[in-house]
Amino acid sequence: MSNRPNILQPSDIRIDDRYIIFFEGSVVVRGAKYVWELGDLDPAELVLGALVLVEDEGEALIAVDAQNDFSKDLNADLVSVRSLLRNNPEVVLQTVGKANQLVEWYQQHQYCGKCGEKTIPRSTERALECIPCDRHYFPRINPCVIVLVRRNEEVLLAKSARLNSDFFSCLAGFIEVGETPEQTVEREVYEEVGLYVKNVRYIFSQSWPFPSQLMLGFIAEYRTGELVLQADEIAEAAWYELGKLPNTPSSAVSVAGRLIEYANQNR
Ligand SMILES: [Zn+2]
Repeated sequence: MSNRPNILQPSDIRIDDRYIIFFEGSVVVRGAKYVWELGDLDPAELVLGALVLVEDEGEALIAVDAQNDFSKDLNADLVSVRSLLRNNPEVVLQTVGKANQLVEWYQQHQYCGKCGEKTIPRSTERALECIPCDRHYFPRINPCVIVLVRRNEEVLLAKSARLNSDFFSCLAGFIEVGETPEQTVEREVYEEVGLYVKNVRYIFSQSWPFPSQLMLGFIAEYRTGELVLQADEIAEAAWYELGKLPNTPSSAVSVAGRLIEYANQNR
């Protein structure tokens, strides 16, 4: 990080800064344009919202948590981060998603959770500080596991009971306090579909900004047990032969899609 503060004041703004603008959690987008320059914007409107530094290499990128919806002034639309993901996976996962998480962190830590005092940004690191308590609030990442269960040439795919999607995907869950990711894999698979697994193997990971997960991708082998679905989590689950899979998530977008692709390539 540079010596610029992470939370900027109007006087910190520079002529070549670039902006991603959020209004009530949505992004201001015009066609393919989601990064704005000072020339596009009314600086008086801009500085009414919070200005959070996202990246500071070359021309700085700043996330603006706007107080007013000025998308119409820019002839632009308000778009959810999730819907932006469909056509721009790299952009969302690397830039817009990070900006969105930083804006959310800043909004949600304006006051100390212990004493209720107003927090202030630290100048030396990305943290909000409560001076009376000497507590620092950093942006929080929530680790999750996502796991593809294999049984010889078959994989277990499930449809979520909560997400309204047509995809059959891997099982996933948050890591609980005190667990290793491998223990989470074993627990989640048992809780969601009633199976025991073995040879839990880490494959790859991905930042998933909905709202702030770190997805750790695993492949595990079926050990024993019969499918018993957890009704409030899993609408449908079954074994599918590799090469004859139903509708699965795109490998360009999600670690689930990449795990399925990996299994297909490593039969
Ligand atoms: Zn405090």
